[in-house]
Amino acid sequence: MLYIVEDDPDFAALLKEISKEAFSDVEIFLNSPDFIKKQLTCNDVVILDIKMPKMDGVEILRALAEKNCLSKLILISGFDSSVLHSTAMLAQQLGLQVIAQITKPVDPDKVQAILASLIKQPSTNITNIANPSTKSTVVKSTHFSKEEISKAIKDNQLVLYYQPQVDLKTNKLIGVEALVRWIHPEKSMIFPDDFLPFVEKYNLLEPLTDSIIKIAIEQESEWEKLGYNVNVSINICASNVTSLSLPEKLEELIKKASIKPSKICFEVTESELMGELIPSMDTLTRMRLKGFHLSIDDFGTGYSSLLQLYRIPFNELKIDRSFISKLLSSSESKVIVDTCITLSHKLGMKVVAEGIEDKETFKLLLSMGCDIGQGYYISKPLSKLDTTYWLHEYKKVKQS
Ligand code: C2E
Ligand code: MG
Ligand code: MG
Repeated sequence: MLYIVEDDPDFAALLKEISKEAFSDVEIFLNSPDFIKKQLTCNDVVILDIKMPKMDGVEILRALAEKNCLSKLILISGFDSSVLHSTAMLAQQLGLQVIAQITKPVDPDKVQAILASLIKQPSTNITNIANPSTKSTVVKSTHFSKEEISKAIKDNQLVLYYQPQVDLKTNKLIGVEALVRWIHPEKSMIFPDDFLPFVEKYNLLEPLTDSIIKIAIEQESEWEKLGYNVNVSINICASNVTSLSLPEKLEELIKKASIKPSKICFEVTESELMGELIPSMDTLTRMRLKGFHLSIDDFGTGYSSLLQLYRIPFNELKIDRSFISKLLSSSESKVIVDTCITLSHKLGMKVVAEGIEDKETFKLLLSMGCDIGQGYYISKPLSKLDTTYWLHEYKKVKQS
């Protein structure tokens, strides 16, 4: 069944006419309160004008999400494409399935093509395959106690996985990002997004970071001894760098491991503790002066802002994965990535794209002038042994 939710009766009739080849059952709703009373199924398709009187598009989407609507949505709007794009993103966050966005005036052939492709596709019960919130909502319900986390840090249950970063132009290996995993004795492997919030809540971020820095530096030294020239990036929160003695502590660690500070890069994310910015600015600047590299992580989201770029001497900017994953499909994302690349280069920084999942995105980033890439297309994060094997194989390919 196809539902057309459109307040202009002439336009609604036109849409019905365009759709008749693909759908024999069509119902028009000229007002939204009537429409949201309908019981929709996953086989239904809804063409929704996001500018409706009484209830606007966002209110309709919210109402559909509350009813766990599984229908496929086609959003239509007379606004510019950015309004449509934002509404579609909101719908996805609400767990709805938007299959197309169309700006008015509508091209009848385009609508027909979209509807025709729907009939060819088998229907699916999955609300939204691309919805990133699905995994986290399932796992976030797990609760961890302070004792459990303290024990994990003390008993070395936290291990590091490493994800390669390569030069997009030459394919040369630049380094690896260290990503923490919790090997829980009963629950198998737990990902950082699912336990780091508890670490922060219990104020255990400092011992966790200390332990991770130590593991990563020792690992770098081990690879160096094996003849691999690989930099290691370590994630830290700005609220973590309030200890003014951190630069000295780090210097001691790298001396002991006999490695150069420039081999270690700290990927800094901001937390909402803006009040902590002054001590972190001091410490981060001194880390740079001691030769460590600094990267601003998840740039473009949350608290990773222009102000931080202005105040802290970063060597590198990492564009957030959310922009990279939509690079091919969203013109807005492309403009943002393009601007980040220009901004980084003008400020003398290297730019890293994380979350590259396919060849097309890799090639497009290269053509846009991005320096370094990281993502499943190059390699997923690997255990320490698998990373060593990967480095070995990669070196062989590069030498042949
Ligand atoms: P991040 O620093 O932005 O790290 C990148 C995340 O993106 C990693 O998730 C990585 O596995 C994932 N990723 C990389 N390439 C792709 C791709 O092509 N597709 C997709 N879908 N994902 C990709 P992970 O390991 O789950 O880490 C999540 C976040 O947890 C990290 O985001 C970082 O903010 C935090 N984190 C990880 N390890 C540590 C740590 O040792 N200390 C601290 N403070 N935070 C950490
Ligand atoms: Mg990172
Ligand atoms: Mg990120």
